[in-house]
Amino acid sequence: MEDCIFCKIVNGEIPSYKIYDRDDIIVMLDINPLSRGHVLVLPKQHYRDIHEIPEELVIKMASVVKEMSERIKERLNPEGIIIMQNNGKRAGQSVFHFHIHIKPVYSDTPVPQEEHLRKKITKDEFIELCRTLQ
Ligand code: 5GP
Ligand code: ZN
Repeated sequence: MEDCIFCKIVNGEIPSYKIYDRDDIIVMLDINPLSRGHVLVLPKQHYRDIHEIPEELVIKMASVVKEMSERIKERLNPEGIIIMQNNGKRAGQSVFHFHIHIKPVYSDTPVPQEEHLRKKITKDEFIELCRTLQ
């Protein structure tokens, strides 16, 4: 897609540090990493978000996320790993070409904490939500 930075990377118009390139998926180092080994898993074909991308491709990407996470754990020895995927500007998406973040966490990595922002909801609200989502 024109004007998509990740499509330009896939097409070789913009350079990147790739660690995996197979079939329809690449994995590259994030240009502004949260931590050592922060990578992005993305399809070569352009899909805007989770709603556009075909299910089979998400399944393939999940398998690559697992493989890369094991590699990162073995080779970089982080204390933990965050797997994250943003959809929509309000949710933090800044590049509108579907991608999954893998962020290794070390003792000095700042980790966003949201526990203090979580809400309590009533039994009626739980029941109503279950009815809506089941
Ligand atoms: P989002 O905010 O959409 O979930 O994540 C976009 C990510 O893409 C950010 O972490 C940002 O650092 C990364 N990014 C933006 N432009 C480039 C680029 O040109 N090359 C690479 N490798 N990463 C990029
Ligand atoms: Zn794209």
